Amino acid sequence: MKKIFITLLVAASLTACDATKKSTEKSVKSGITKSVKTSFFIDSVMVKKHLYTLASDDMQGRKSGTEGIEKAAKYIENEFKRIGLTTFEGLDSYRQTFNFTPRRSKEEITSANIIGVLEGKSKKEEYVIISAHYDHLGMKKNGEGDIIYNGANDDASGVTGVLALAEYFKKIGNERTIVFAAFTAEEMGLIGSTHFGKGIDAAKFVAGINLEMIGKTPSFGPNTAWLTGFERSDFGKIVQKNLEGSGYQLFPDPYKNFNLFFRSDNASLARLGVPSHTFSTTAIDVDKDYHKVSDEAETLNMTVITQTIQAVAKGTESIINGRNTPTRVVLEERKK
Ligand SMILES: [Zn+2]
Repeated sequence: MKKIFITLLVAASLTACDATKKSTEKSVKSGITKSVKTSFFIDSVMVKKHLYTLASDDMQGRKSGTEGIEKAAKYIENEFKRIGLTTFEGLDSYRQTFNFTPRRSKEEITSANIIGVLEGKSKKEEYVIISAHYDHLGMKKNGEGDIIYNGANDDASGVTGVLALAEYFKKIGNERTIVFAAFTAEEMGLIGSTHFGKGIDAAKFVAGINLEMIGKTPSFGPNTAWLTGFERSDFGKIVQKNLEGSGYQLFPDPYKNFNLFFRSDNASLARLGVPSHTFSTTAIDVDKDYHKVSDEAETLNMTVITQTIQAVAKGTESIINGRNTPTRVVLEERKK
């Protein structure tokens, strides 16, 4: 893959400073935050590195059960280690390994969710999960030319966000515990996140922040994203309030016919009552690269992805620091 050198000047406006001013938290914390407010922001050089690595041909489309996804798993593990995350309860590494048999297949697959933790300072028994899926569709069995489904937007962009937010919150601190998860086998039917959901006490999870396809220019214009299931809890309203004055806006998911709330990993936790939603920037109704081999890193806008990650950091800061707790999701009974 061709490398392009881009220098991005990223506005440092989306830091935790505004939220901290409004905060009634102890002065100790605000002192620390003030000193770091201009030093730390989401680093666009690191964002580009994560994205281009995860979406490279070397990862062979990251299909669960293949050598390609194993390379992605190792990259994420190494980043979690470098950043300084701890392991999730009951696990002795970042891997939550399990076996499953995909639909339309007879072969059992062994794969792993990659999970890292930043323990909260004052509310460590209350969890916020930040997630994205690191698997994608793999490679075409035959054909000429490009046969690799790089999945740059879907969902190397989201995993990039998870890694960047882990690094960000490690630096600025967090009152609630943050669980960072890169889920496997989303493309095979939300299998990794469903497995994760079976092993948790959902009552401990106060919010779920899932990132999907955050690298393309949104149809609402620059500095916007949309949120799935906006009306299902007040999570989105909290984020909107936190973003006031930042120049970045969050909208309810406009693609209602696509049923997107149930088509990504946020659904696995929402089914357990967790206010768990997906952020995206992509106009999925017209996106030419969705689930195509053309979903390459070069088609993404580095400014969009970086600003969106910054906005997620700022927009969810009051939830991560325990000042806001979104209402639980209640799903209507399914029609039998
Ligand atoms: Zn996806």
